[in-house]
Amino acid sequence: MSGHSDAVERGFSSCVHCGLCLEHCPTYVTLGLEMDSPRGRIVIMKGVIEGRIDATESADRHVDLCLGCRACETACPSGVPYGELLESFRASRRPARRRRWTDRMLDYLIFHVFPDARRLRRCIGLGRLVRDFGIEQAMHEIGWQRLLPAWLLKLTEMLPDEEDRDTEPLRPEHVATLSRGGDAASLFTGCIGEAVFAHVNRATIRVLNRCGVSVHCPAAQVCCGAIHAHGGRIDDARRLARHNIDVFDANGATPIVCSVAGCGAMLKQYGQLLAGDPHYAERARRFASRVRDVSEFIATRPLTLRLRSINATVTYHDPCHLCHAQGIRAEPRALLRAIPGLNLIELPESEMCCGAAGTYNLTELAMAERLAERKVDYIRGTGATVVATGNAGCQLQIAAALRRRGLAVQVVHPVELLDRASAPPGG
Ligand code: SF4
Ligand code: SF4
Repeated sequence: MSGHSDAVERGFSSCVHCGLCLEHCPTYVTLGLEMDSPRGRIVIMKGVIEGRIDATESADRHVDLCLGCRACETACPSGVPYGELLESFRASRRPARRRRWTDRMLDYLIFHVFPDARRLRRCIGLGRLVRDFGIEQAMHEIGWQRLLPAWLLKLTEMLPDEEDRDTEPLRPEHVATLSRGGDAASLFTGCIGEAVFAHVNRATIRVLNRCGVSVHCPAAQVCCGAIHAHGGRIDDARRLARHNIDVFDANGATPIVCSVAGCGAMLKQYGQLLAGDPHYAERARRFASRVRDVSEFIATRPLTLRLRSINATVTYHDPCHLCHAQGIRAEPRALLRAIPGLNLIELPESEMCCGAAGTYNLTELAMAERLAERKVDYIRGTGATVVATGNAGCQLQIAAALRRRGLAVQVVHPVELLDRASAPPGG
């Protein structure tokens, strides 16, 4: 298996084809096809790498349709590291794949605009103009909508209605002095997190401050590299990882808190990503051991917050990169249950991907939409008026699907509810 690490080779061989993962795989559950299941994809990927299966467009399509949600890893009794196999396979196939101009445009957006919060904010502004000035609607009316790539229409549909109310740049020195004498943490903000959900980062800081934790937010931090790694651009992901390690190491050994599950999962993977780098392997391992999801960080501390009631029926969606990639399920639920008056209703299939999956909802629109509709059906069944979920991509995807169905259900991060409940009276 030239070009693939020994760990990847062992990973492929550890699949015993038992099929216990199949019923947990969203694409298999939706399509019922073996080749769109984890087991089928492992056979395809291993076969292509070993030269036993031709690397046809059809073989690539089955792998493209994989969400990378890693639900199969949770279900697998043999410990097959599916996510690692997928990333390694995609990286090896990338140079040989033919790309249409619309794909290349999307690549530019994903790999050059999304990882930069400022560029992304400008792009979002442009998207709002297209939507709010009726340009998209006008194209529909004159039958020209087919001239626009489908992902562009999807992107405008997902934009939140309101501009983020909290876009004031974070000033590290200011944030760090909000609370003196207690513990300290560094905040990883994320690119989409900071461009679209800046208010979630601010809520995280306020909650941590109220817990007696001072928060430092290094200004030089960059994208975590998740979209690069998932898209087969491993070298770019490694470059970003090295940069983040340098930046956060300069702030000592404080825990690195993140409120975006997709970024947190990637940061925890840095040890594995840089295992072959003689200069960074050990530092990457130490860096990864410092990373905590915000719910995980708060749950390990005595909850000293004075919480006021929030009288609402809330359901919780498990982001794949929190439950499957980080194994975090109980902590966000415990935080929500700690809020007086809040009625938490369990969501059926809460661990099933909502179809966001990083940038999947821009590249695989049909499957992403089917999964979002399935999610919304279950949300509706709970009767909840609020959905809590700890990942920016899930928030956007679920909110867009709820809007499409005309359902007045709010989508928030659990830390926002904790922020509201712990705000000082009149605050
Ligand atoms: S990562 Fe998700 S979509 Fe892909 S094979 Fe595993 S369960 Fe299925
Ligand atoms: S990935 Fe795991 S659960 Fe799925 S078929 Fe292979 S060994 Fe079985």
